[in-house]
Parts: sequence; structure tokens; C-alpha cells
Amino acid sequence: MKILFYDTYDYDKNAFEEQLKNFPDIHIDYLEADINPVTASLAKGYDAICAFVNSDLGALTLEILAGFNIKCILMRCAGYDAINMETAKNLGMTVLRVPGYSPEAIAEHAIGLALAADRHIVKGYNRVRENDFALSGLLGTTLHGKTAGIVGTGKIGAAMCHIVHGMGMKVLGYDSYHNPDLDFVEYVELDQLLRESDLISLHCPLFESNYHMINADSIAKMKDGVIFVNTARGGLVDTQDLIEGIRSHKIGACGIDVYEEEEPNVFRDRSSAVFESVVSTLCAFPNVVLTSHQAFFTKEALAAIANTTLTNAQAFAKGNLEQLPAPNIVS
Ligand code: NAD
Repeated sequence: MKILFYDTYDYDKNAFEEQLKNFPDIHIDYLEADINPVTASLAKGYDAICAFVNSDLGALTLEILAGFNIKCILMRCAGYDAINMETAKNLGMTVLRVPGYSPEAIAEHAIGLALAADRHIVKGYNRVRENDFALSGLLGTTLHGKTAGIVGTGKIGAAMCHIVHGMGMKVLGYDSYHNPDLDFVEYVELDQLLRESDLISLHCPLFESNYHMINADSIAKMKDGVIFVNTARGGLVDTQDLIEGIRSHKIGACGIDVYEEEEPNVFRDRSSAVFESVVSTLCAFPNVVLTSHQAFFTKEALAAIANTTLTNAQAFAKGNLEQLPAPNIVS
């Protein structure tokens, strides 16, 4: 089976080449360019293409791929909102994905952001590099004995619940599904979670129904000086209201891995570009730590993504799709 990979970086290639040893019948070529109607024609002669979160797999791209008899789209991520699924179904395409990989990786990054922002770790490090050993401005909060509010207690949220519980925090959860494995979590309504939590961390998917669920109203309900973390999706938070919340000191520390306007930035080196963005506003605050969609980015997660993607590809090639876990199959 020959697969053309789009939107790849050296770390993708390394992770896949390592796993390929176990899949001798699969050959991969890697492109840096992402897929779109122009680059789709490069897939001529391949059996499948592999794409990522920000790829353009709209109707035109899919029709071009179908013209080259490509019947399999491999997403090396959980989300498939980049694909026009109606067109993919009409064209009889199989779409496979990686529904879950190292949820702990994201939860560990979330607590890392909380600590980095609240304990001013980046600022402290920069000071020490300049031989400035003063502590003024670096005061943080002890989390032990405080309350954590976890919004969404699925795979990643559950991992986060375990981490904060292990740190000695009381854990409040907000989710319509009450995870029976989390017997130490007290499930409450969102308003109570907002009112009582010292640390709030988002771990739910983004839907139309929860777009901007964190806005001026919900921020007003939070405790003064709350630590707020978002590693879920940018659209869950109204960025301008968040900025106001930080300015007014309602939010005492803020860790962000995803934000609304991230799409042109994610995974790209734009250090030479001149552009305006909320990034510079957020980074100007001394109590904000911002990363660019890197919460998933661990060796273990990349290995799991590569292994599942290649298992999906092999099942397609052998006509064994029924042997895959059902969530891997989108259509
Ligand atoms: P999951 O499906 O295992 O869990 C999601 C949970 O959220 C479910 O229990 C669901 O009932 C709950 N939920 C749905 N709507 C909710 C709402 N409005 N309020 C509260 N809870 C709600 O998903 P997961 O694997 O834990 O992933 C969670 C999210 O994390 C993903 O949807 C994605 O947006 C984000 N994510 C981020 C990264 C990153 O690198 N930053 C990587 C992977 C996933």
C-alpha cells in the first residue's frame, strides 16, 4: 500500500518510520505541503492519503482524489471536521482516524501550564538567566487543599482529575456523563463549579451549543484570582472577555494551549511575519503562559498516533475494517 502524507514535519516522519518496521507492506512518502485542491493531484498513483487537523479536505479536494481512484483518507488525529463527510460518503471513500492517544499527555501539559502561569516559572527562569535572583512578582498559590473544577471528564478530563486529586485538591466535575471510575469527583452544575473552584480546566469538545461557554458572564461567577486553563478548543472561550478577566485581576493566572485565532499560526514558524494577533496581547500579561497546540506533543502520543494510523491503513488494504475498534471508522 502506498500512502502520501501531507502537512508533515520531521517529528511526524520519525514517529512513522519507527512504527513502519511493523508494517512491511506499507510505503509512505512525506510532503511538507498540506492538502488542498492544488496539492491533491500529487496523490496520483497512491492508494491512500494521510492528513492532519487543519487540512483542506473539502468537496473539490475529495473529488480530485476520487479522480485518481483514492478510496481511503487516513486522519492522523481524532477530529475529522476538516473533511466534507457528505462528499466523502457520496464518493464511497473510507475515512479512518485516531480517536484517542495518550490522554495523559494533554492533562500533564494542562497542569504544567497552570503551574507555569501561577508560579511564574518562565519569568523566574528568565530572571535567573539575567542573574536577577529577586522574588518580587513571583508569588504563587499552593494548590494542595484547594478546589479544582474540571469541565468535561472524558479521557483527558479524567486524567486531569487524577492529577489534581493526587496533588491533594478537592475535585469538582461538570459533565452530563458522570464517570463512575472517578468516585472522588463531586459532579456539580457549571455555576457551582465556576463559583467554588480555585483552578478551572477545560476538557470538553467544542460544539455549537458550548461555543464561548467561558464569557464575561461565566468569568464574573469565578473566584477572584482563579487559575484558568484551556487545552481543549479555542472556541470554548471568548478571547476578548478572557483578556478583560485577566486585566480586571478576576483571573489570577492563565494557561492557554488553544485560542480562537490559532489557525494561521498552528505548527508554523511565523517569527519573521508582521501580523497582529491576540497572542501578543496575552503574552504581555505577566500571569499568562501560552503554548501553541502542543499539549498532545509527546513521544508516546506520536508513537500511538503512528501505530493506530498504520493499523487503520493495513485494515483498509486487507479489507479487514471490521477488526478495527468502531471509533476508528468515520465512514
Ligand atoms: P472525550 O470524548 O473522551 O471526553 C469529552 C467529555 O466532555 C465527555 O465526557 C463529554 O460528555 C463531555 N462534554 C461534552 N460536552 C460538554 C460540555 N458542554 N460541558 C462539559 N462536558 C462536556 O474527549 P477527550 O479525548 O477527553 O478530549 C477532550 C477534548 O480535548 C477534545 O474534544 C479536544 O477538543 C481537546 N484536545 C486537545 C488537544 C491538544 O493538543 N490541545 C489534543 C487532543 C484533544
